[in-house]
Amino acid sequence: MKNDCVFCAIAAGEIPSFKVYEDDDTLAYLDINPFSKGHVLVIPKAHSSCILDTPDETLSKLVLKVRDVAAKAKAALGCDGFNILQNNGESAGQTVKHLHFHIVPRYGAGPVDFESHKADMEELKALAEKIAAV
Ligand code: AMP
Ligand code: ZN
Repeated sequence: MKNDCVFCAIAAGEIPSFKVYEDDDTLAYLDINPFSKGHVLVIPKAHSSCILDTPDETLSKLVLKVRDVAAKAKAALGCDGFNILQNNGESAGQTVKHLHFHIVPRYGAGPVDFESHKADMEELKALAEKIAAV
């Protein structure tokens, strides 16, 4: 665990999150400023700053979990598709320096935007419970 890392603190349960999936190595929870309804972040519990310093085993396990969580989210939300994003470095838009994959559900034929939106905490809670229940 890295001391000043917000996602390590979430993984350790020191900061609350809207969890959708957890196992020994992996945690998935809703993004608090979602691009779309049901925007999920998937992280390894072990800290690495980006994809380049992540050990093979951690990354291999994580990618499979990203797929599984995306399938759960799609089943729960009834989205038509989803983007998987993974930012490395400030110039790529990475703001949290703990490896994470974004799963961004997409609905219908609307514009594919990558803008953060303010979320309603009650709605996030309900969405997380719905995805976690799949
Ligand atoms: P990135 O720009 O790829 O580094 O994405 C970081 C994401 O983490 C952003 O979409 C933030 O909205 C999200 N985020 C930051 N803090 C939290 C938090 N405490 N709980 C959930 N999501 C967070
Ligand atoms: Zn961390």
